[in-house]
Parts: sequence; C-alpha cells; structure tokens
Amino acid sequence: MALLSNLTDTKLSIFKNRFTFVSVGFLLATTVTIGTLSAAPQSKPNGPWPTDEQTLSLAALRGYEQLWKTLESIEKSAKGAFELSVAPRQSNTGREIPVVTIGHGPDSIMIIAQQHGNEYVVSEAMIQLIKDLSDNSAESKRIREAITLTVVPRVNVDGFDAEVEDAFGNTPPWRQNYDPFCVAGPCPPFYQRGRGYDINRYHSYLDEADIDPYVGGPNPVPESLAMRELYDERQPLVVIDFHHQGSYVDPDGNLITGSTLWPNATAAAIALGREAEFEDAVVLSKKVVTVMALELEQYGYANLTLYPGTTTPGIARNAYGLLGAGSVLFEMRGGIGTKSNGYITKTAYNAAKAVVAALADGSLFDADVTIAEGLPPRGPGIGAPNEDEAEVE
Ligand SMILES: [Zn+2]
Repeated sequence: MALLSNLTDTKLSIFKNRFTFVSVGFLLATTVTIGTLSAAPQSKPNGPWPTDEQTLSLAALRGYEQLWKTLESIEKSAKGAFELSVAPRQSNTGREIPVVTIGHGPDSIMIIAQQHGNEYVVSEAMIQLIKDLSDNSAESKRIREAITLTVVPRVNVDGFDAEVEDAFGNTPPWRQNYDPFCVAGPCPPFYQRGRGYDINRYHSYLDEADIDPYVGGPNPVPESLAMRELYDERQPLVVIDFHHQGSYVDPDGNLITGSTLWPNATAAAIALGREAEFEDAVVLSKKVVTVMALELEQYGYANLTLYPGTTTPGIARNAYGLLGAGSVLFEMRGGIGTKSNGYITKTAYNAAKAVVAALADGSLFDADVTIAEGLPPRGPGIGAPNEDEAEVE
C-alpha cells in the first residue's frame, strides 16, 4: 500500500513537471506502454512502433531547463578546452540556444541536431558526444588538440517544448519553430500556417548571412540565422546535421536504421558561380559519409542508405555545401516515440564520433568516396500504427 501511494505521488509529480523526473518518467512510460503494442509483420525486426502514450514517453528526454543543467554539469567536470555558450540569436520565445565548443585545434567541425522539434532523440546522441569528448582519455585529449568541435544539440528549442500553442491549439513537440504570425491568406514558403517556419529551409547560402533565401530582405528565422552566423564565426571544414525520418525497409524487408546524403544543389552552385568550390565540398561530404558508413558497418544494428534529398538550397546540407563545407545530412529512423532511444542515440553518436576522430587524425581526407556513392537508395516506407505522415529532411 505504501508502495502504491508512492507510485501515485510519483505519477502526479511527473504530470506536474514531466521533464524533471527523467528516469522515473521513462520507467513509467515503459510500464504504461507494455501490452499496447501491435503492428503488422511488415518488417524485420517488427517494431518497435509508436503508441498513444508517445507524449508521455517524452518524459524520458531532457526538457529545455534540464538540457541546460545537463550541459552546465558536464562543463563543471570537463577536461581540457570546453566552453558552453549561447547561439548568436535567441528563439522567438526568448530562449537561448545552447552551443558547446570542445577542443582548440586548427580544424573546425560543426555538428547540429534537432532543427525539427519533433525529431528529438538525436539531441541525446549529441549529449553523449559532448560527454565523451570532454573526458580525460588519451583519445579525447588527442582530438581536442587537433580540432575545434562546435555542437548544437537542440537547434529548435521552441519546437520541442516551448509553452506555447499554435493558432489551432496544437502544442509542441512539432517540426517548425514558433512564429504564428500568418494564419489567413498566403503564407511564406516552408511555413506551417498559424505556427512557424521550417528552420531547415532558411539557412542562407548567399554571401550575406542575414537574408531570406526565398524573398530577400532580413532572414525571418532566428534559429537558421543563428546557425549561419555560427558557421561564419567558426568556419568549419565539415558540418553534420542530424534528423529523424520515418520507417523504411530495404529490398530484404530489413528496417533501414539511417539515411544520409551530401549536398546536391548543383544548379544553385552554377547560378552563384561557385561550381568548382561546390564540387570540392561534395567530394569532402562524400568522404564524411564513407567514414560514417564504415563505422556503422561493424554494428549489427545499423542498416544505412542514401537519403532522397531535394535540391532546395536553404536546407542546411545544401547551404553549407554551397558555402564550401563538407556538409552531410544524417537521418535516424524516428517517429517511434522514445522506445528505441538507446540504439538511436548509439548509432548517431557513433556516426558523429567517427567523423570527429577521422578529422582529428586526418584519415577523413583519405576516405574512399566510392563507398559513399555505392550506398543503396532508401527503400519503400512502411506504415506504422499511429505514425504521422513521414516528414522530410
Ligand atoms: Zn528533420
């Protein structure tokens, strides 16, 4: 009886402040969802699939304040060069976007995650990467001497858990930022009516950072502009952008665990007169993909394909490629609540870490691009119970 009332109290606490009680919340989410799983046997392995309790299972993730606390705590125990700072722009609700800088070596690399607020597990992988590279191991020391790594674990702080509603009463997590100025009439490109912009369409690829890539004038998306300004400040050789995609299978029916792609905005590069620079950026991007593919090949749980990305130049993958960086998109399987957190985190972490290590020891530049080019295309999507329509990049 005492145990039961304790549990009830715990549940109440979680509902009052669901982002504070991480481990307990996760336990509860796991408990609640047991027995509710059902899915057609359309893939190997069959699931896990999302459930109606997805929202509840968000308690397993770090809320905004908790993300900052976690990063501050890592900073306290970090060895070597480590800086926790804020992005050059705040979100529209006035939240700061955390930026971590590790190392002080000559080669700069920038890794960003969760531009889409509802693609949240990859931010956990970034925390793992930050923890790992700030430890006292000989490898981390070597890496910190060779490179300067900029990590933005959650670009879209509002789209994950701002205490806001869109014009239709929906609450985060959602894909866009929060900027519900356009409710009726024609809205801007890549804008969700009554809610906000798709951050990953508004990275300016032009010389001037603060410019709307579609209609000119000032860039209306502070999160995109903040990433471009960080890029200009840090001048990274490599940019990696982590997302989630829906559920897909390969020709053998095996679940695809991740998809990746290099820049393909060739027409924009030609129009800008940057064709040669862009081609170099594409080659370096393919080397990044090769390093990730070889790293993940050794794990039984990874099944990597190319991503069918579009040529829209304001997508981070394209924009930073057009600006001359090796620029890569990495999409983890997602839309599955938090039930595969462990393996998604591990895969994204391993992919990112491999590239960081390869840049640090120079092996990145020797990577064989034919391995990237030989990755299979992504297979067909499979419907998952309760899964929203698959979002793109
Ligand atoms: Zn995305």
